[in-house]
Amino acid sequence: MARHLQRKPVWSPDLVLFGVAAGAAVVAFQANASEPAAVPETRLLSAAFTGAGGDTDRPTLRAVRPPEHTGDVEQLAKSLRMTEKREADAAARLKAEREEEERRRVKVFAPTEGTLTSAYGPRWGGTHYGLDIANRIGTPIRSVMDGVVIDAGPASGFGLWVRIRHTDGSVAVYGHINSYAVNEGQRVAAGQVIAEVGNRGNSSGPHLHFELWDQAGRKADPLAWLRSYGVEL
Ligand SMILES: [Zn+2]
Repeated sequence: MARHLQRKPVWSPDLVLFGVAAGAAVVAFQANASEPAAVPETRLLSAAFTGAGGDTDRPTLRAVRPPEHTGDVEQLAKSLRMTEKREADAAARLKAEREEEERRRVKVFAPTEGTLTSAYGPRWGGTHYGLDIANRIGTPIRSVMDGVVIDAGPASGFGLWVRIRHTDGSVAVYGHINSYAVNEGQRVAAGQVIAEVGNRGNSSGPHLHFELWDQAGRKADPLAWLRSYGVEL
């Protein structure tokens, strides 16, 4: 005991300060790493003061990491976020490619042949929600996709129309037709003749008015929709 008291303590106020700073650094480091602090700051401090009390020659600071390591953790977290973003981007690209491939597999036909006289978009101060394809009366009109006939008969403005709901939920509208070859509830295949070009309803000459309503019921641009399936008019 006497020998112990004679020894000059290694402990100094400088070390206490370092212990406090290092304890804070450990807490900061662990907060950055999103892990619960294994050694609370108070325990680190008490370990330091225990050293001063004479039970051991020097305080225990083994768990302490040098303060400069906090920068490494920020760098690591940053590169981890960048890696995650790259992986997410790659997954999104793969998903888009698969969807595109899937669309190319679906059989889609042009609704009829003729001259595109009016596209989808603004017209005469309003909006033209379809395509006008002009051709002589009697030109065959084909279902653009597999589906079920939901209307075949008279329709306001269109004279006569056929509407077909496709297997993907979208709906095609064929207006101003001269006659139709299908009935409501009938299943039709892509490319099957369903009607003939006419000049009925509000029409200024023989043509097909073709609309494409998407799954949500919005009137989409039929030209863009056909193109997305690789069909050009
Ligand atoms: Zn039209």
